[in-house]
Amino acid sequence: MVARIYTSPYPPIPVASESLFTHLFSVTGPNEIGGYPAAHPAFIDAATGATVSRALLKHLALSLGYALRNHPQLKLKRGDTVMIFSPNSLAFPIALFGAIAGGLRCTLANSAYTSRELEHQYKDSGAKVILVAEDGVPVAREMLKDLGLTKDEVDQRIVVLGNGLQWAGNRSTKTTADPGLLTLDELLTLGTLPSEERFDGADTHETVLLCYSSGTTGKPKGVMTSHQNITSVLDMVKLVFPPLDPGKDVMLGVLPFYHIYGAVKLLNFPLAAGIPVVIQTKFDPVAFCENIARYRVTASLIVPPILVVLSRHPAVEKNDLSTLKILFSGAAPLGAALVKEVKRRLLACNGGKQECFVTQGYGLTETSPTTHLLSTADSDSKVGSIGLLLPNLEARLVVDGEGDGLIDAEEGQPGELWLRGPSIMKGYLNNDVATKDCITHDKWFKTGDIGIRDKEGYYYIVDRRKELIKYKVRPVFLSRQACLSLPARCRSNRCRAVPPAELESVLLTHPDIADAAVIGVYDEGEATEYPRAYVVPASPGKVTTPEQKRAFGGDVANWIKTKVAQHKFLRGGVIVIDVIPKSAAGKILRRELRELAKVEMENQ
Ligand code: AMP
Repeated sequence: MVARIYTSPYPPIPVASESLFTHLFSVTGPNEIGGYPAAHPAFIDAATGATVSRALLKHLALSLGYALRNHPQLKLKRGDTVMIFSPNSLAFPIALFGAIAGGLRCTLANSAYTSRELEHQYKDSGAKVILVAEDGVPVAREMLKDLGLTKDEVDQRIVVLGNGLQWAGNRSTKTTADPGLLTLDELLTLGTLPSEERFDGADTHETVLLCYSSGTTGKPKGVMTSHQNITSVLDMVKLVFPPLDPGKDVMLGVLPFYHIYGAVKLLNFPLAAGIPVVIQTKFDPVAFCENIARYRVTASLIVPPILVVLSRHPAVEKNDLSTLKILFSGAAPLGAALVKEVKRRLLACNGGKQECFVTQGYGLTETSPTTHLLSTADSDSKVGSIGLLLPNLEARLVVDGEGDGLIDAEEGQPGELWLRGPSIMKGYLNNDVATKDCITHDKWFKTGDIGIRDKEGYYYIVDRRKELIKYKVRPVFLSRQACLSLPARCRSNRCRAVPPAELESVLLTHPDIADAAVIGVYDEGEATEYPRAYVVPASPGKVTTPEQKRAFGGDVANWIKTKVAQHKFLRGGVIVIDVIPKSAAGKILRRELRELAKVEMENQ
């Protein structure tokens, strides 16, 4: 079989051969760091306005790097791992770039983790120290204690981050941590590295970041992201990302920094593009809109659930959002109808003066993360697409087979998206089996997502391979009764894949639905999966009793029949729910819905 390999339509660009820190913070001219004025703001705390300039950030990072390597209690060595366990704050970039300046690896932990969840990542990553926000100290302590450490050993492994404000000129907010623990404040006063730890040539392949991802299966695994993975993705994205003006543009950073999307696109990319980031601790629709108005924000990276809120929340009308030029979505499927609705609403709010582009990118933790981007120029004509393949990358859409017998999809047909290029991870930490499962001997990374590429090279994600609902269509010439009399394997002559993401985007166009998620439920009798929808009514007060919920669900099930092909009908039912469970990165937690469905079916 001849492989059908697609290349990027953009010309290849050179791959950097230096560390991530050197790439971002080199002195590039008088009073210039990383190509932009050293005095320019790098990060701004949304709540207080406290600001860290590019020069101050570099200085603080070199100071923390010094302390992590030299403090007698820490004495970390090049290549050791530190864990950052913190919500978004000014201290986060100081911690991240400080560890990187010191030649260390960073593993970023979900700030909502319990001690048990944290334990897996701490142990697996081999972390030696935790840089932890004050609120997380009890969780970190419990986790270290459960690992069998004595009280003294526990205390020696914790550094309390505080919120970083004192380093931005706000001296009244010093960390009030436990006196037995080291603090960021203290570490930043000890000294400064004359220069960052160098990673040049072959050393650029050393791991710098260890985010945890389940990949297509199993427990969270440590994704080994190298310096070169990130420097290449920064340069690739910079070439294609909507044009930003370093003197004028301001980004609002609300997505969690511990997820690779936040870590690369909110902490690294804006530095590479010379744009300040206003840091909001977590998404809240009112604060989000107020911060856009207060800081005259022009761009924000978001996830689809934020767009769902922006399509309905009154804060959109109450604030001046007319500076907003780009909303850039990622991490989860984004339907065309939602994009159109948010654009329409934002335009109506500013009296038709300023259009806001709503566009998207695609990628995975394993791809550092972005591999595809839809430019603003294409955002209307190709709405719903994840855009074109970034430079330096190659793609395949594989239907079936192994080794020499691999079958690629015909032009315009769906297949599993495989990717190859400099931003693909090195592999999973301590897990060769999982690495071999997803990276082939010739370096193709299997994303687990089903994609389509149109004639012009624009890609569309149909769904995740393992989330497709397999609906078996009964042979048309048999009655249901006759069909059931056959052995299960003979009952179906066709298995049709129903993509939940597509049904979700259709459901979101229903005027009475605020949010929706679709999963497959298994019917043993019929030996098939059926699509079941969970929906949040737009006016929950009107749908409260079991009868009202049943009637609402029935109406939605009937309505969908007017919108999609027969095999996608919601035969598994429509259930009214208060809120769709989602991760902080905006992904629907389908596992939780499957658990719920199991209980519902047992009680039927
Ligand atoms: P993570 O590793 O947590 O970033 O998750 C990666 C997964 O998110 C991908 O495999 C996709 O299933 C999904 N994803 C990311 N971006 C998009 C997008 N623009 N459209 C659809 N799915 C996406």
